[in-house]
Amino acid sequence: TYVVTDACIKCKYMDCVEVCPVDCFYEGENMLVINPSECIDCGVCEPECPAEAILPDTESGLEQWLELNAKYSAEW
Ligand code: SF4
Repeated sequence: TYVVTDACIKCKYMDCVEVCPVDCFYEGENMLVINPSECIDCGVCEPECPAEAILPDTESGLEQWLELNAKYSAEW
């Protein structure tokens, strides 16, 4: 799955939302999040993000962001 990180906070450009083929972006408290069980790992959103806030979960140190993405996307 791909993960939205803190660079997204108060960004809300929504470019990523428009390109995601499975509509798995959701509104978190002050940033967007990706639902990890819906994301198909296509990678299309990553280069679209003007804040470079979207990263693949294969990068290290993303545990807290993974958790937050899962938490806020599950509330919908
Ligand atoms: Fe959507 Fe693809 Fe980005 Fe996953 S990697 S959030 S499926 S655009």
